[in-house]
Amino acid sequence: MTERIYMSSPDVGQLEEDAVVAAMRSGWIAPLGPDVDGFERELAARVGVARGVALSTGTAALHLGLLTLGVAPGSVVVTSTMTFAATTNAITYTGAEPFFVDADPATGNMDPELLREALTQLRAVGETVSAVVPVDLLGKAVDYTSILAIAEEFGVPVLADAAESLGATHAGRAAGSFGRASIVSFNGNKIMTTSGGGMLLTDDEALADQVRYLATQARQPVVHYEHTDIGYNYRMSNLLAALGRAQLSRLDDMIAARRRMRELYTQLFATVDGVDVFGAEGDENDNVWLTSILVDEAVTGWAPSELAAYLAVDDIESRPLWKPMHLQPVFAGSRGVISGASERLFERGLTLPSGSALTDGQRDRVTSRIRGFLDERAA
Ligand SMILES: *Cc1c(COP(=O)(O)O)cnc(C)c1O
Repeated sequence: MTERIYMSSPDVGQLEEDAVVAAMRSGWIAPLGPDVDGFERELAARVGVARGVALSTGTAALHLGLLTLGVAPGSVVVTSTMTFAATTNAITYTGAEPFFVDADPATGNMDPELLREALTQLRAVGETVSAVVPVDLLGKAVDYTSILAIAEEFGVPVLADAAESLGATHAGRAAGSFGRASIVSFNGNKIMTTSGGGMLLTDDEALADQVRYLATQARQPVVHYEHTDIGYNYRMSNLLAALGRAQLSRLDDMIAARRRMRELYTQLFATVDGVDVFGAEGDENDNVWLTSILVDEAVTGWAPSELAAYLAVDDIESRPLWKPMHLQPVFAGSRGVISGASERLFERGLTLPSGSALTDGQRDRVTSRIRGFLDERAA
């Protein structure tokens, strides 16, 4: 039996183990403590914003970010269709309606011109747009220069979903620092992990305070548990924050390891007509969280699903790109400005093992398996 190779497994070792044990021995178990404060300070400093609020998941960070921006039933939130369901789920929790914007085919990120079209359409029919939520796909930051300017023109606040892009930059500024607030995720498959967790990052102190308040059951600052709002239990635990601090100290090394894997794929497919490494253009600013290829079956003669099946025989995981939200049964009937770009990415894309924990032996196994497939198909 060979060992299964995953797309992106957690990269944790002695440093993380020591950090969690130290936090446990310090007695700060339940649930907040000095590692939560330290993690918030360190990550806010890393992305260059004033405040971080550590939360139980990235989805919780999206939910509370939206609520704090005033997103409510009867309003519309304009978001990327090319994303993981968490983004749209969080919008739905608030009672607002998601409105989908299609992608720039080169990056998969929200197309600024289509955002303008969406906001123009919605204004024409007199709808209240309460937020724009762009998503940094697979570790490439959105074109925030354009997106923020357009949202500002329409007077709509931006909550940036940077769940996948910690460590990336746009125009010299860190992902996680854009918009009124940004959110990041530390789920087990992300660029760094706290097992499960997320953080809201912002320069807006009042917004950060409100998110912290809602995340701790909306307790008024009095001893007798006074409540004037409905709250949530969304804070991160101190043990997990200790894990996060250890991971953050290794973030740049983990990005470098993912970049080496991207480079192997780039070399491997350089001579294969009809296959491109997705988003490779300008990727020196990305955190290269996941590497996907785009396959033009008319040129290659094989579909991405055939390569996926061939890898699966050797217990190597691969997956299509995110299925666009406007194609999801649960969001059937939703509105949007759809160009077809994300549908084409979904049809042509295949995401390959990209994790920083891959050993040299595992990298070799993946690349030789792919080479084997290409040789078979070329013969
Ligand atoms: C992972 C992810 C989230 C959700 O983060 P969790 O911590 O898993 O709740 C949100 N948006 C995007 C784009 C993601 O990839």
